[in-house]
Amino acid sequence: MTMNKKTIEDIDVSGKRVLVRCDFNVPLDADGNITDENRIVGAMPTIKYLVDKGAKVILCSHMGKPKGEPKKEFSLAPVAKRLSEKLGKEVVFAADDNVVGENARKAVAEMKDGDVVLLENTRFRAEETKNVETFSKELASLADIFVNDAFGTAHRAHCSTVGVASYLPAVCGYLIQKEIKFLGNAVNNPVRPLVAILGGSKVSSKISVIENLLDKVDTLIIGGGMAYTFMAAKGYEVGDSLLEADYIDYAKEMMAKAGSKLLLPIDTVVAREFSNDAESKIVGEGQIEKGWEGLDIGPKTVELFSDAIRKAKTVVWNGPMGVFEMPNFAKGTNAIAKVLAEIDATTVIGGGDSVAAVNQAGLGDKMTHISTGGGASLEFLEGKELPGIAALQDK
Ligand code: ADP
Ligand code: MG
Repeated sequence: MTMNKKTIEDIDVSGKRVLVRCDFNVPLDADGNITDENRIVGAMPTIKYLVDKGAKVILCSHMGKPKGEPKKEFSLAPVAKRLSEKLGKEVVFAADDNVVGENARKAVAEMKDGDVVLLENTRFRAEETKNVETFSKELASLADIFVNDAFGTAHRAHCSTVGVASYLPAVCGYLIQKEIKFLGNAVNNPVRPLVAILGGSKVSSKISVIENLLDKVDTLIIGGGMAYTFMAAKGYEVGDSLLEADYIDYAKEMMAKAGSKLLLPIDTVVAREFSNDAESKIVGEGQIEKGWEGLDIGPKTVELFSDAIRKAKTVVWNGPMGVFEMPNFAKGTNAIAKVLAEIDATTVIGGGDSVAAVNQAGLGDKMTHISTGGGASLEFLEGKELPGIAALQDK
């Protein structure tokens, strides 16, 4: 997918009521304080642009899983407060259990150009996740234009991401524009060589990604827990490592198809048990014994992978190389992150845990692009068209 969707810069927003679907799905602590405001920060460029252009900016988002009912602990009120502070102007919170109820209508009716209103959690309405017309129409009735900037939910066809786009001119905001540009170009129009690094726990959850990327990449690197199924496909013992026996044949097929494009680990850090303090050692290819499980790639593998990555002009990374949550088994993941940080190439990180790993290594700001949507970026790498993007107007 290349960038053929209209953006906020392609339409006249001045004086218009613009409904913006943001991703304000931020984590809260027990006292309702926002513990990570990255998603609010990510939404700012679009909001600021619209405010500066004199639009009437109506923001909406889901947060958590209130299961279609108003629940106080899932209220977006804390987001309105934080947004006001960041924007340096009041964001009126339309506290409305129905999301589009009397409060919301009144708040919108009173807006002047450049004002900002935030609606209540869209998932307070049961219709939202079922993409039911009634709620989509209610949302649309508040505005003249719809802007989708919630990449994190662009893979879901909900009222506030897809339904509403049937009733209003619909374009994307800066965040979605950026995601399409980096993820889309990296996969579909890359500066070559293109190297994809896949890892994480399961082959089964990444099959479509492997299939889509295999055709497109110059080199495919597979590490992490999913590598053991490939090792088993080579006929090796994998001990107590993660293994999806049902996917061994699939792994064989992929290996045959990929030929020399595919790089697999040539050594492994194995441990006695799944714990940071477990007894551990490094073993060579095919040397994992019973009673041991692989929890990280070994130093020779780091070298092998790094050499391939250093030749790349574009790198896409999804899935950690080991159990990065445990410091003793984060070394492989950290070493790969370091190579990505050093090279002169476009580096794109997608996937919730991969992003967490890169940030944990303190290298987030050294990457070209860190995707803001875990599930959405995965579907993008699978080559799927995301409904929340498909619903927007073409250029
Ligand atoms: P992402 O969220 O980036 O798409 P995944 O969810 O597919 O990544 O996988 C991340 C998880 O994989 C992490 O929790 C990590 O601990 C786990 N993992 C990686 N390597 C191994 C391994 N060798 N054994 C067990 N789990 C692993
Ligand atoms: Mg994950």
